[in-house]
Amino acid sequence: MDLRFSPEHVTLREEADAFARGLRPTLEHDPEWRRQGMLSDGDSREITRALGAAGWIGMTWPIELGGRGLTHVDAALVEEVFGYHWLPLSLYLLSYKTVGCALERFAAPELRERLLPAIARGELTFCQGFSEPGAGSDLAALATRAVRDGDRYVVSGHKIWTSSAWAADWIYLAARTDPDRPRHRGISVLVCPLDTPGIEVRRFPVLGGGYLCEVFLDEVEIPASQLVGEENGGWRVLMATLDFERVTAEKLGGLAWVLDELERTLEAQGRAERARERLDSLRGQLEAARLLSLRAADLLDRAEPASAASAMAKLAGARLAQRLAAEASGLLGLDGLVDGEPDASLGGRVGSLVRAAVASTVSGGAAEIQQIVIARRGLGL
Ligand SMILES: Cc1cc2nc3c(=O)[nH]c(=O)nc-3n(C[C@H](O)[C@H](O)[C@H](O)COP(=O)(O)OP(=O)(O)OC[C@H]3O[C@@H](n4cnc5c(N)ncnc54)[C@H](O)[C@@H]3O)c2cc1C
Repeated sequence: MDLRFSPEHVTLREEADAFARGLRPTLEHDPEWRRQGMLSDGDSREITRALGAAGWIGMTWPIELGGRGLTHVDAALVEEVFGYHWLPLSLYLLSYKTVGCALERFAAPELRERLLPAIARGELTFCQGFSEPGAGSDLAALATRAVRDGDRYVVSGHKIWTSSAWAADWIYLAARTDPDRPRHRGISVLVCPLDTPGIEVRRFPVLGGGYLCEVFLDEVEIPASQLVGEENGGWRVLMATLDFERVTAEKLGGLAWVLDELERTLEAQGRAERARERLDSLRGQLEAARLLSLRAADLLDRAEPASAASAMAKLAGARLAQRLAAEASGLLGLDGLVDGEPDASLGGRVGSLVRAAVASTVSGGAAEIQQIVIARRGLGL
């Protein structure tokens, strides 16, 4: 992979920077935004509409589906910029980068044409219903059932930890369509609006700010035309969806901001030199995580296997979030932990980062699972 950024990359990042700066005055008036920690799940509906209206959603999709025909590397570079400005990206990431990119690859043409242009305009948002009370790391244990009945499926089950289900329009669901087949070969992916009769969403607050949800499905009728990929072929779709999800460039953008601001604050206090070794080591770890994330994006662009690379990128970013949270709170002391106050060090972001970073080695697949993916698919162990 050629790591020199082209003039087009530079221009794209400048455009993204100007767009994000334009949104800052609106965001800064919102007390909720100040309390957002890294990786949190706040209200991102308004920002998603603004991103869509300005053509920032679906960057990698073809123009006829509402996209811009750009690459995953382009998208990652833009997402770093958005992350640096702390744009609330939860619905953008779910609707475009995770679910949307999987729909682009696996959905039938009619379903793609129905959903992708609306996602790209920021008018249709998704959440992702994979995890269940008995199926997290062991996703193949999922028990939600989808029973075929003519031209529809009838779905019942219980999803948990569903980010943004309270704010999204549709859900992207993993369900078991054949309980008699081996576990991985009896799963399918379906999509449906969250206001379909039989769906109940309950949200609860989480440590890092914002909410997670439980989604209860009771005999929910979903047209068979809303199946993504093949019946019982869902495992492949799920794994590819996770590959898209694990290129977490936006989170690295947020961490880069924390590191820059930490250094500036320590310099203003005349304490930066004493912390130099720690700051440099964090910067090295950040650059390594960025390169891993761009490498995974590059593999997605080449349609080459990206699971091990995206697991490495995800793990490096998650570990960096935790280390940076610990170092920043140690270096700033108690003042650094005041939450959401504009006058606090780093605008009060470190306190919420400390709490939100706890989940960074769980969300999107636990650290141990990333290590297993790297060992098996990357190293062939
Ligand atoms: C902030 C956040 C947002 C999330 N958003 C979503 C979402 O939008 N949609 C969704 O579907 N899910 C979501 N999740 C759920 C997430 O994917 C799961 O929490 C994660 O996959 C772990 O599953 P679990 O919670 O059931 O833990 P478990 O699978 O029970 O794991 C518990 C611990 O055991 C370890 N462990 C389990 N199996 C092994 C093994 N084989 N070897 C070694 N160690 C193992 C794990 O690493 C972990 O440390 C979210 C989670 C969080 C925290």
